[in-house]
Amino acid sequence: MKLFDGLEAIVEEDVPMAPRTSFQIGGAAKYFITPRTVDELQQAVTRCRENDLAMYVLGKGSNLLVDDAGVKGAVIHLGQGEFADVTMTETGIRAGAGADMGRLVLRCVREGLSGMEGLTGIPGTVGGCVRMNAGGAFGDIGNIVENVVVMGLDAQPFTRFRTDLAFAYRTTNIASKFILGAEFRLGHDDPHRILKQVKQIWIYKKNTQPLNYRNAGCVFRNPRGLSAGALIDRAGLKGKRVGGAFVSDKHANFILADPGTKAADVLKLINVIREAVYKQAEVYLELELEVW
Ligand SMILES: Cc1cc2nc3c(=O)[nH]c(=O)nc-3n(C[C@H](O)[C@H](O)[C@H](O)COP(=O)(O)OP(=O)(O)OC[C@H]3O[C@@H](n4cnc5c(N)ncnc54)[C@H](O)[C@@H]3O)c2cc1C
Repeated sequence: MKLFDGLEAIVEEDVPMAPRTSFQIGGAAKYFITPRTVDELQQAVTRCRENDLAMYVLGKGSNLLVDDAGVKGAVIHLGQGEFADVTMTETGIRAGAGADMGRLVLRCVREGLSGMEGLTGIPGTVGGCVRMNAGGAFGDIGNIVENVVVMGLDAQPFTRFRTDLAFAYRTTNIASKFILGAEFRLGHDDPHRILKQVKQIWIYKKNTQPLNYRNAGCVFRNPRGLSAGALIDRAGLKGKRVGGAFVSDKHANFILADPGTKAADVLKLINVIREAVYKQAEVYLELELEVW
């Protein structure tokens, strides 16, 4: 592994990506890098740049479709060591980019911290959720972000504060390649009351989303003032299938994947949906799902 001499402890070659995404689809990453410290991340980034390797940042892989041909460059996963740290602060909680969102929600319940419960049932890491401004009817993560530690390709970390951050529907103004961690401002409440709300949101999600089948959440962004799911439903596409990929009967903005489904099946189904919705409603659906 000449390219990454000295970094063998954190770099693997030809690593299958399917097990690292919720869709469980896709080929291998040429290089898979798991830095445990900022220093290791800086070294890896410098090495990638010296060798003109494209870099992809992976969280929990809950919003991704990886191509069958895999990823030619380096996939960098911030999930180990200091990137998974969670600490309490005076006003809330600080978490590394790789901290698991589901566990963080439950930690907040235990600590009697309120504000995070709206993210119940959203699979992901802190980094992926901040990048996507994850959320929905019960609130977006951007509402509770106090500051975010980021790092660009120059490998120099810095902190961005709430006053200079903007969050909108599934997007932020953070342009830096890497989110290293974030601090959340939370309130105090009775753990039983917070838990009750978490349970209610969880039941709602279970009733409205196909959570027990391979998927990557909502595939398309809601067009302004419209629901992508309703448009897909109205175009008569619930249950529509291409190979192993099919539109959920429960929530038409979810594509589900049988074991063995190819990324090509999902991509073809995406095109079928787009064409049908455009024909029916003259609306072009944009992807929320990210394709690598
Ligand atoms: C069953 C299901 C339900 C879902 N429901 C919702 C929902 O209600 N609301 C919602 O918003 N989303 C939902 N999603 C989508 C998904 O949970 C979110 O998009 C989540 O934010 C993805 O986080 P992740 O860590 O898995 O990111 P990934 O899928 O790994 O990556 C997503 C994007 O974030 C970037 N990224 C990840 N980590 C970092 C980092 N440390 N630094 C910089 N960039 C990074 C990636 O490069 C990529 O661009 C759902 C998904 C599933 C499977």
